[in-house]
Amino acid sequence: MNFDYDLFVIGGGSGGVRAARIAAGEHGARVGLAEESRMGGTCVIRGCVPKKLMIFASNAPMMADEMRGYGWGDANAHQFDWAAFRNKLDTELNRLEAAYTTNAERAGVEIHRQRAKLVDHHTVSLADGTRFTAKHILIAVGGRPAKIGIPGEELGLISDDLFLLDELPRRALLIGGGFIACEFATILNGLGVQTVQAYRGDAVLRGFDTEAREMATQQLSDIGVDLRLGLAPTRMDKSEGGVTVSFDDGSSEEFDAVFFATGRDPYSWDLGLENTEVRRRKNGAIEVDQWSQTSVPSIFAVGDVTDRVNLTPVAIREGHAFADTIFGGHARKVNHDVVASAVYLRPAELGTIGLTEEQARERGAVDVYSAVFRPMRSMFAGSNSRTMMKLLVDPDTDKVLGCHIFGPEAGEMIQLAAIPITMGATKADFDATMAVHPTAAEELVTMRQPSRRHRPGEA
Ligand code: NDP
Repeated sequence: MNFDYDLFVIGGGSGGVRAARIAAGEHGARVGLAEESRMGGTCVIRGCVPKKLMIFASNAPMMADEMRGYGWGDANAHQFDWAAFRNKLDTELNRLEAAYTTNAERAGVEIHRQRAKLVDHHTVSLADGTRFTAKHILIAVGGRPAKIGIPGEELGLISDDLFLLDELPRRALLIGGGFIACEFATILNGLGVQTVQAYRGDAVLRGFDTEAREMATQQLSDIGVDLRLGLAPTRMDKSEGGVTVSFDDGSSEEFDAVFFATGRDPYSWDLGLENTEVRRRKNGAIEVDQWSQTSVPSIFAVGDVTDRVNLTPVAIREGHAFADTIFGGHARKVNHDVVASAVYLRPAELGTIGLTEEQARERGAVDVYSAVFRPMRSMFAGSNSRTMMKLLVDPDTDKVLGCHIFGPEAGEMIQLAAIPITMGATKADFDATMAVHPTAAEELVTMRQPSRRHRPGEA
């Protein structure tokens, strides 16, 4: 059968664009791609990139504080100019969107700026009614912010909205205790917004190493976020000054803006999947095997819509491996077991890879090398901020099972620590590495004795 394309990609985000570019540019496939919104997807347009720029912007008051501790008595972060920042941000996102578009087009990808749906196992239809056939179809449509099903929740904003505000709210509520809630609380607080964060649990960032979670929870309060633990909203009502939120402890309060950061759902609805035999999990995620192949041989899926490890670099790797496997004659799988990530808080970030201390204990014996200290830079300035470095080591094999860093630039540090850990480094390899002095990261190679040893069966 003759197809219009060798590959049709639905979704112009990180995973879809990488797959399309590699299939067309490196392997000579005829590729079409449909995107209903802006090229670049969540990470570039309404996620990682604008978020990180806002984290930088929100740093100023803390930097001024620190510099006063170094003798710059008049260092001050005066009024933040949101309009000026937003203009620059819009320009930067336009630049990135154009780069994504041109790079894909240069590789030979035909971009259709419309929504696409599946008609059958080899056909897609676009919003204007055009149909294309393709030998392979790749679904890379990502995820969408999820709300929680309380009355009046349509009055609440989602993470996408932060980057589009005409003006910053005076007083904001963030609901949730995950990646987005904690990063957004840090940003808003740093930009001078009175920030309340309501989280139903007892420490933010569930799933991360407990010691690191406790430090992150403490830090949010220390920097001035009004963090309320064990609290969840039950309803929202429009009020004169904004939105009045009622909570499960019987209290209610008014805010100018309320943001839901309560997880993301795979964006698999209204995609024509009912016309195919593609199987989905209960939460809507598209089921795939280790080759990113769905239950239909001609249809593949990568990125957040598959809900494996929901991070941009993982989607990119999945898209690239798919293109190499199907069009490059080079079968490649993605290892989802060891993936480093970072949560961009301030002043300390949280960088993590591998098992948490709790997971390592469940697995068996583990030696914990952990150092908690006041880093030179902020201590001199008079701050009590603490940094933590932790290595989890299997006492039988000496292999490093996990690493957790809570401190300034932990994202950068964990990226470098991720190389030896992915390679299977032992504690002896870390010990054999000469320290770089004076740095905070040198603790990773100078921790001689375990702080504690856990053995199976102990209380
Ligand atoms: P998360 O899954 O990380 O967090 C969701 C939060 O919402 C949790 O604290 C959860 O509480 C809470 N929650 C869920 N349902 C309810 C409810 N019904 N009532 C009250 N609270 C609720 O999702 P995010 O939205 O923060 O982020 C989505 C994804 O985006 C992440 O999984 C991550 O992969 C990605 N991301 C990555 C970043 C990075 O790498 N730096 C940055 C931002 C996002 P509980 O813990 O109790 O379940």
